[in-house]
Amino acid sequence: MKRKILVATTNAGKIAELKAMLDSNVEWLGLADFPAIEEVVEDGQTFAENARKKATEYAKAANCWAVADDSGLVIDALGGKPGIKSARFSGAMEKDKTLLDHKNMAKVLTLLKNVPKENRTAKFVCCLCLASPKEILIEVEGEMKGLIAAEPAGENGFGYDPIFFIPELNKTAAQLTAEEKNAISHRGQAIRKLKPQLEKLLICCRHDNSWTI
Ligand code: IMP
Repeated sequence: MKRKILVATTNAGKIAELKAMLDSNVEWLGLADFPAIEEVVEDGQTFAENARKKATEYAKAANCWAVADDSGLVIDALGGKPGIKSARFSGAMEKDKTLLDHKNMAKVLTLLKNVPKENRTAKFVCCLCLASPKEILIEVEGEMKGLIAAEPAGENGFGYDPIFFIPELNKTAAQLTAEEKNAISHRGQAIRKLKPQLEKLLICCRHDNSWTI
């Protein structure tokens, strides 16, 4: 029997990414499979705390294993901002994601207007946590380093990708294909760390009947 794991996000893109990269012997579920579960509030102080809280609370509510992530952009010249506030850095409450992304990027570019290239260092961070209803099972983190560009470039990706310049590739993250981005991204790296640990855990659990949930 396949183990059920809830991917605790409503973001269809993230569910697809996780399912594609974690092709273990698992039946992947989404929050749409649990309409009665209330949204968990992300009130942690770090990406890891938010991922841990979401995984633990969704696992308890759904009574099965749950994996949750939290990610964002960390800019050195802004003391780590936007950080855990990345999704709504501009304060805008736009439902239209593209408009929201533009407002968030505009705020970053304004704040960095007088900051020279060498001081525009930044990274994307992704924390992933897998929890059972009883305990945390796996926690991993991935990051991707780059520079904040002077202006947006590229049409792919989402969020801050058009202003996230990767010097080694001489491109912004929005100028990469999905495959190219997955190969180096914070989320791709976190998933690649999670995968072997999850596979090991699934094998251990098959030999241990006490792990029914
Ligand atoms: P969350 O993990 O969905 O809470 O993501 C927080 C925010 O961080 C997103 O809304 C984006 O603004 C930003 N972010 C996270 N990962 C990426 C990425 O891969 N590219 C661009 N922006 C990202």
